[in-house]
This record gives sequence, C-alpha cells and structure tokens, in this order.
Amino acid sequence: MSEIVVIGSSSMDLVVTSAIRPGAGETVLGESFKTVPGGKGANQAVAAARLGANVKMIGCVGDDHYGKEILVNFKENHVNVTNVKPVTGVGSGTAHIVLAEGDNSIVFVKGANDYITPEYVKSVIDDIKKAKIVLIQQEIPEETVEYVSDICEEYNIPLLLNPAPARPLSQDVINRATYITPNEHEAAVLFNNLSIEEALKKYPNKLFITEGKQGARYYDGEKEILVSSYTVDAVDTTGAGDTFNAALAVALVEGKNIEESLQFANRAASLSVTKFGAQGGMPTREEVEGAL
Ligand code: ATP
Repeated sequence: MSEIVVIGSSSMDLVVTSAIRPGAGETVLGESFKTVPGGKGANQAVAAARLGANVKMIGCVGDDHYGKEILVNFKENHVNVTNVKPVTGVGSGTAHIVLAEGDNSIVFVKGANDYITPEYVKSVIDDIKKAKIVLIQQEIPEETVEYVSDICEEYNIPLLLNPAPARPLSQDVINRATYITPNEHEAAVLFNNLSIEEALKKYPNKLFITEGKQGARYYDGEKEILVSSYTVDAVDTTGAGDTFNAALAVALVEGKNIEESLQFANRAASLSVTKFGAQGGMPTREEVEGAL
C-alpha cells in the first residue's frame, strides 16, 4: 500500500558554470557542464523516499535518453515508477541552468510534464485512493492541480500543496487543500489582497509559510508560531523547499503533530542546504534523526 503519492514534474537539469553570463547574441567559454535529475515533483518524491517513506510517483517523461535516466534515478532512490509514463514523440522536461556571476538563470522546458493531464491522473486513480497523503506542486498543468484537489476532497485524502512556482490558485483549490506551503514570494502571489499575518489567520493549521533560514510560520487558531530552522553552513539552497515539503508529508503521515512535523521538515531542509545540488543534499532518515 502506497503511503505518499507525488503528482508532479520531473526533468533533467543541464547545468553550466561560467565566469561570465552571456548577453544577447554573445558566446562565452564555459567552465563545466553536468546533467542532474530534477523537477519539483521528482525532487520531493526522492526526498520522501530517502526519509524512509513508501513513495509512488505519478508523472510523465519523454521517450528520449533523459527519460530513461530520470527513471533510473527514481529506481535508485526506491521511488515506485509504475505510474511514470513515457510519452511517445515528446522530449523529457529539461531545465537549462547557467551558474554565473554568483547567481543562476534558468530556462525550464516542460516537455512531457504537460502530459500530466486530468485524464492521465484519472487513469491511475486507484493508486491515488491508497495514499495516506498526496503531494503536489505547480510545474504541471493548472487543470490537473484543480482535478487533484477535487478527487482528494472526494476520497478524503489529505492534500499537501506546494504552490511553486508561484501562480494564482482558485479559491476552490485553496479550500480543498489540507496544507499549503508557499515561500514568502509565493504567498504574496496567492494572497495578494492580504498581508502575511492576515493570510495566516485566515487559514489556521493549513497555511505554512517558509522563510528560508528562519524556518516556517503558521497560525494555530490562537497565535502565530514561528518554528525556527537550524543554523548550518549553507552551501547550496537549491531544493531546500522540496526537501521541506517531502519531510513535512512524511512526518504528517507518521502522525506527528503540526509543530513536530515542521521541526522535522526544518531539520531535513537545513541538512539539504549543506551539500551541492537539489537531490545531492537530501538527507536520509538516519541523518535527520542523528541531527535532531
Ligand atoms: P528553494 O526554492 O530554494 O528550494 P524555497 O524558496 O521554496 O526554497 P525556503 O523558504 O527558502 O523555500 O526554504 C525552505 C526551508 O528550507 C525553510 O523553511 C528552512 O527549513 C530550510 N532552509 C532554507 N534555507 C536555509 C538555511 N540557509 N539554513 C537553514 N535552513 C534553511
């Protein structure tokens, strides 16, 4: 029986490092190139599996070499890929990343991720019904997010919605989600007519706003609570949010209360920033528990 179902994107990240960022029409000599598996859905699935959860991924890859590599990476990380569908004649999702001058620029090509449609999700609904929690993000079509929120409500399955990247959500989706985890920027897009304090108060025990190294904030029905993160030497914060969401889902499924779950999520996410790469730094269960 699957405990955590992740419905989301996967991609191959093509990462170039360069001293100089090329301007329009310019060619520069880069320093290094590597390919690493990514995508918010895949990152969260891998992070949850490393923390010991039984994880089933629902997604799509292209029928190209990257698609095969993405599937191998899932299997190496013990993520069930029965419902990761290769789409004929379509490329896998790719993120084209330039690391230059201390910052990154990214072009994300959705590719096969656009085929994660409501119809596809419906075709695997029997597996979703077995989930103890469903984890979803926004690198997939908007109508799929709507549909997933609908079926989670219908079958009474807790839904953890990580609204990243930022885009507005319908009030129905906000109402149906059990937990919503924006960072501060995403919260501003979602609740643009409310202050952070007002939004937290409006959605007690549902809205958890992540605040980088500060930790995460929520309203418990009586007061606002900041659950502090841990002080670490941050090397690369890519994937911190993905690790946070995965760990939160794991802790909630295990029956931890909200505050304990946020502490666990902070711990896992703080460990993830101590190593390079989104998936590279995702900790194992032993590493989180050793550190707590
Ligand atoms: P990203 O997009 O970089 O993956 P995000 O913007 O979605 O992340 P953040 O709020 O930056 O999300 O970080 C998510 C969580 O990661 C935080 O709530 C915290 O637990 C942890 N975290 C992030 N940065 C740090 C840091 N420098 N030190 C300790 N913990 C951190």
